[in-house]
Amino acid sequence: MEAIQVKQVGGPEAMEVVELPVPQPKANEAVIKLAASGVNFIDVYLREGRYKAPLPFVLGQEGAGVVTEVGADTMSVKVGDRVAWTGLHGAYAEYAAVPADRLVPIPQRVSEQQAAAVMLQGMTAHYLSHDTYPLKQGETALVHAAAGGVGLLLVQMAHNIGARVIATVSTEEKAKLARAAGAHEVILYTQADFEAETKRLTGGKGVDVVYDSVGKTTFEKGLNILRPRGMMVLFGASSGAVPPFDLVALSQKGSLYVTRPTLVNYIATRDELVARSSAVFGMMATGKLQLRIEHTYPLAKAQQAHRDLEGRKTTGKLLLVP
Ligand code: NDP
Repeated sequence: MEAIQVKQVGGPEAMEVVELPVPQPKANEAVIKLAASGVNFIDVYLREGRYKAPLPFVLGQEGAGVVTEVGADTMSVKVGDRVAWTGLHGAYAEYAAVPADRLVPIPQRVSEQQAAAVMLQGMTAHYLSHDTYPLKQGETALVHAAAGGVGLLLVQMAHNIGARVIATVSTEEKAKLARAAGAHEVILYTQADFEAETKRLTGGKGVDVVYDSVGKTTFEKGLNILRPRGMMVLFGASSGAVPPFDLVALSQKGSLYVTRPTLVNYIATRDELVARSSAVFGMMATGKLQLRIEHTYPLAKAQQAHRDLEGRKTTGKLLLVP
């Protein structure tokens, strides 16, 4: 089978198209023929070596497809089932072997490509808005990179809760998408000072929560626009890592909270994984959550997908299709 392997960490060229044997399932696993795998920023961190994985490894943290084989002890899925997963290496490939307890069934009204597109970013948007800082109607959230994969889903969920969403994006085209997703105000943070603009838009009160996936270039100013006892949810580093900072700043800026969450801790148990994925699929099935699959690339074009994602060229979701 064809797969995208990293033998040595580095730039997009570190991803090689290789021929590997189709995996055999261990007793607790199922083998899935992938319909699509999702491209995510975490794949960039892993490829670069910012997040460590034993070399060589097949990239890809999210996928969906049809079960072709099951291991001896696997009872929860059977050959022919449509399933999706996230949080394990190996989805940039034609086939993957996945522990059965990490697989979730894809409901009838959701296609395999849609499932591959929503597992990681959809469940992330869900835990951020429902658990890390459970937004309430009437509260105000600032969402950075709002036209991105997580961004567009998070804006929709926050809007559906009844929160006011202030969004930041880099271009006018992205601003249109953020507005269409439900952002009430959009700031072009590459042109305007988002700190000053947010203070103006909130009449100096500040926002209840900042959802920051951008990191280095936005974190510090983000602390300045929180209301007293507001929460900074730093969940990514698309512009680079936030340097260490003095915790005393949190008291000086209004007894603020800072958290650095990651999806794996919000789908750690089988029950939580099933509940969260069902909630996201449910939103899709009822039309409350619109997916924007911006581009599908053949598996062999993974390098291009990464270049586009890192180059801030993309909006919504990118998929690789074997
Ligand atoms: P996106 O589609 O959001 O792409 C990244 C976006 O970040 C760009 O489109 C761009 O939007 C913005 N950005 C700002 N500065 C830069 C920069 N210097 N270089 C590149 N992009 C920049 O990606 P994803 O939806 O896949 O992921 C978003 C973030 O969320 C990532 O940081 C990722 O690691 C994180 N994440 C965290 C999870 C968690 O559980 N903690 C789970 C999933 C994702 P614009 O042009 O509008 O500025």
